[in-house]
Amino acid sequence: MVEQRPEMPSRYDAASVEPRWADTWIERGYFHAEVPDDPARAYCMVIPPPNVTGRLHVGHALGRTLEDVLIRRARMRGLEALWVPGMDHAGIATQVVVERELRKEGIERRDLGRDAFVDRVWAWKEQYGGEIVGQLKRMGASLDWERERFTMDDGLVRAVRVAFVRWYEQGLIYRGERLVNWCPTDQTGLSDSEVEHEEVDGELVTFRYPLSDGSGHVAVATTRVETMLGDTGIAVHPDDERHRDVIGKTVRHPFDGRELPIVGDDAVDPAFATGAVKVTPSHDPTDFEIAQRAGLPLLNVLDAEARINANAAEEFYGLGRYDARQAVREELEQLGLLVEVEQPYRHSVGHCYRCHSEIEPWMSGLQWFVAVDGLKGPAREAALDGRITFWPERWTKAYVGWMDGLRDWNISRQLWWGHRIPAWYCPDGHVTVAIEDPEACATCGSTEIEQDPDVLDTWFSSQLWPFSTLGWPDETPELGAFYPNAVLVTGYEILYLWVARMIMSGMSLVGDVPFRNAVIHGLVRDEHGRKMSKSLGNVIDPIEMIDRFGADALRFSLTRLATGGQQDIPLSVDSIEGGRNFANKIWNAARLVFQTFPGGEPELPPVERLKVPQRWLLARHQRCVREVNESLDRYEFAPAAQAIYRFFWSEFCDWALEMEKERLRSEDEQERDDAAAVLAWVLERTLRLLHPVMPFVTEEVWQRFGIGETLVRAAWPDPAEHADHEALGADAEATWPFVEDLVTTVRRFRSERRIPPKTQVELRLVDRGSGDALLDGFEAEVLRLAGASAIALEATADTADSASLLVRGETVLVPTAGLIDLDAERERLRTRLEQTESDRQRAEGKLANPGFRDKAPEEVVRAEREKAERYEREADSIREQLAELG
Ligand SMILES: [Zn+2]
Ligand SMILES: [Zn+2]
Repeated sequence: MVEQRPEMPSRYDAASVEPRWADTWIERGYFHAEVPDDPARAYCMVIPPPNVTGRLHVGHALGRTLEDVLIRRARMRGLEALWVPGMDHAGIATQVVVERELRKEGIERRDLGRDAFVDRVWAWKEQYGGEIVGQLKRMGASLDWERERFTMDDGLVRAVRVAFVRWYEQGLIYRGERLVNWCPTDQTGLSDSEVEHEEVDGELVTFRYPLSDGSGHVAVATTRVETMLGDTGIAVHPDDERHRDVIGKTVRHPFDGRELPIVGDDAVDPAFATGAVKVTPSHDPTDFEIAQRAGLPLLNVLDAEARINANAAEEFYGLGRYDARQAVREELEQLGLLVEVEQPYRHSVGHCYRCHSEIEPWMSGLQWFVAVDGLKGPAREAALDGRITFWPERWTKAYVGWMDGLRDWNISRQLWWGHRIPAWYCPDGHVTVAIEDPEACATCGSTEIEQDPDVLDTWFSSQLWPFSTLGWPDETPELGAFYPNAVLVTGYEILYLWVARMIMSGMSLVGDVPFRNAVIHGLVRDEHGRKMSKSLGNVIDPIEMIDRFGADALRFSLTRLATGGQQDIPLSVDSIEGGRNFANKIWNAARLVFQTFPGGEPELPPVERLKVPQRWLLARHQRCVREVNESLDRYEFAPAAQAIYRFFWSEFCDWALEMEKERLRSEDEQERDDAAAVLAWVLERTLRLLHPVMPFVTEEVWQRFGIGETLVRAAWPDPAEHADHEALGADAEATWPFVEDLVTTVRRFRSERRIPPKTQVELRLVDRGSGDALLDGFEAEVLRLAGASAIALEATADTADSASLLVRGETVLVPTAGLIDLDAERERLRTRLEQTESDRQRAEGKLANPGFRDKAPEEVVRAEREKAERYEREADSIREQLAELG
C-alpha cells in the first residue's frame, strides 16, 4: 500500500510545492462559488480592493491572510463561500504614476488633453496594473477569480451613477460653495478623513489692527499671519468685558485700507491669546461659520498652489504662502503693529495623507457634497442594535462617536482619472444630473451643456463595493444570496474612510447593512513596534519573505501575531522563519507517521483497545479543535493559530510521537497498527484544522492519505463530532501534568549531571498514598522517555546517596551511586557558579546605573532585569546541587 502513495522527500521544499498548488487550485475551480439554492448556505466577503498601482505589502498580506482563514474555513464547512476579488482605480495614486511616466517622455498631462490622458491611464492599467493580482494568487488567497471586478468597469460605472443620481434626487447630494481641505501640491480637495493632523513647531504672531476712529487698537493672534490679507472682520466674545466697547466699531486694514467690522460671536474663546480673533472666512472653517452668522464677506487671497493672488494687497502678489508669512510679519513690524512673535509655537496642523503637504482650507468654487445628516442615522443604529457587530466590540463605540461628529463629505476631486461627476451645466446655470449622458439641459433644453470637470472621490465608488460587485443596482441572484456579506476584515486606519461609508451607502441604497460583522485588526509594525518605513530600513517585503520561507510561513506568522483591535502586530523575519520551521515540523512528523501508516482513511481502534497515552492524545486534540473553533467564531486569530501550534509541536510531535515510537516498532501487529492509526487519524484532522492558515503544506501532506481530491473542499473539524474524546481522555489528562513534569525534571537532571544517554537511572517515588495513581497508565512511557530502568515506590524518604527531585509537590529520589564522578562534578558546578555569579553582577551593575536605567528603551531595561533574575535563579539551583553532592 505505502508504495502507491507519492514518496515524501526528506526535506520540505515550499518553493516548489506552493506555486504548483496555487495554480492547481485555481485551474480546478475550487475557489469558485455558485449562488446556492438555500440562502443559509451563502457566505460572502469582499476583498478591500487594493490600488491598481499597488504591490503587495505586509499590511495586505495580513488582511488577506485573515480573510482567507475565514473564507477557507467557511468553504470547508460546506458553505458556498464567495470571496470577491478586485482592484480600485485609485484616483490620485494612479494619475500621479502615469503623469510621472509621461514626464519621462517630456509630456505634461495638460498638453495631452483630458481624453488622451485618460486613454493613457487605461493603457497603463492594462499593461502594468494589477501586479498585486499575481501576488495574491501566490499567497494562496482563495478568491473567486471568475468574479474579479474593477471600480471603473462598466457595471461599477453604472452603480456609481445610479447612486449619485438617487442621492441627488433625495437631496442627499448637493452642490455648494464650501471650504475644502485643499492640497496645494496635489491640487485637489480632500475629505476630512484624508487629512492627518500633526503637531508642528510654528509661530504665534500677535499684531494690532488700528481702530478706524483712531481711538486705539485691537490685538489679534494667529499662526498663519499671511491670511490676514484675507481678513474681512474681527470677532470677540460678546460677554468679554475687555472688548465689549469695540463691538460695532471697525478697524482699518493696514495694507489696503479696507474697513473690517468688529462683531460679537459665541464661538470665540475669550481665554485664547488676546480674546479677539481675526476672521478669514475663505481660509478657515470656524471663521467661515462666524462670517456666515455675521454676514461678513468672503475674500479668497490664495490661488490653487497656495500663492497670494490678486485679491490681496499688491505688494504680496505671487508670493508662496511661507514667503508671504515672512513678508507680512516684516511689514507689520515696519508699521509698528507687531506686538509679539512666539517661536517655536507648537500646534496641530493638517497634512495631506498622500504627499504630506500642509493643507490649506480653501474655497474652491462650487463642489459636490454628500449631506451625511440624512445618512448617518440608520448607519449608527445598525451598529447599536446588533445588525452589525464589531470585533473587538470596543470599536462600536469609536464608530458611533465618529458618526456623531461627521460633517458633510466633499466628493469633488480635481483630477482626470476617476468617475466623472454625472452633472452637466448649461450657460444659464441649470444643473442636469443623469445616469445616461444627456443631450440637452433638462430645464431649458439648451444643447450647450458641459459636464462637470471633476471626478468623484475614490471612496465614492469603493463605498458601493460590497453590493456593486454583486450586480447592484440590478436585483441579481448574487445580490439576493450574498448580500449582506457575512463579514468584512479591515485595519482600523480605514474604519472611517471606508467601513463607515459602506454602512451608510448600503443602508441607504440597498436597504440593509453591507456586512454582518466588521473585524478590525491592528497594523503591522516592526518587532520594536515602529512603523515600517523606507527611511528606517525596517520594511519587510512579503514577496521576499515568501521566496525565502514560503507563503505558509508568512501566513502562519501573521495569523499567530494577529491579536485583535488596535493592538499593532510586531512582525519580524525571525517570526516568519519560525513559521517555516513549523511547516518543516509538520512535514517531518508526517513522514514518521507514513513510515507505518499505509494511507487511506485513518480509523480509530475501538475504545477498549486505546492505550492511556492514546486517550490522552485524542483528548488533547479534541480540546484543540474546540479552542480553534471557539477562537475563530470570535474572530480571534492569534489564539487559534497558537492552539494548533502548541498542540501539534508540543503535544503531538514532542510527546505523542515519542510515546508511540515503541508501539510503532512493536512485534504485535495490532498494537502497531493501532498506534499508527491513532497518529494518522490525529494528523489528518490536524491538517484540516490548520489548512486555512497554512494551505500549502497541509494540502501537500494530506494528498498522501489518498482520500480525496483536495483539502480545500474537505470537511472542517467540527467540535461536536468527537466531543466524547474529552471524557475519554479525562483521566489521562489529569495524570499528565505529573508525567510531563517528571520526565522533564529527570531529563534536566540528567543533562545537568552529564549522565550519558545510555546510562539508565532508577526512580524512587516517595509514597504518600497517592503514589500508585501518579503514573496511571504512563509507566512504560516514563521509563523510556526518562531513561529509567525502574520506578519503585518507597515508603519513606531515605535520601542517602540519592539526588532528590521535586515534581509537583512529590519527592522523587534518584540513587546517584556510580552515576557520576563526584569530584569532577563538584569542580564543574563551582566553575559554572562563578561564571553565573559574574554574569549576574554585570547585569545588576548595569541596572544600578541611572544612566542606563533612565535612558535605555523600556524593553531593553526589562530584558536586562529578566536576565539578572535568571542568573540569580541559576546560581541558586547550582548551589543546591552542590549542597546535594555534599
Ligand atoms: Zn497632497
Ligand atoms: Zn438650462
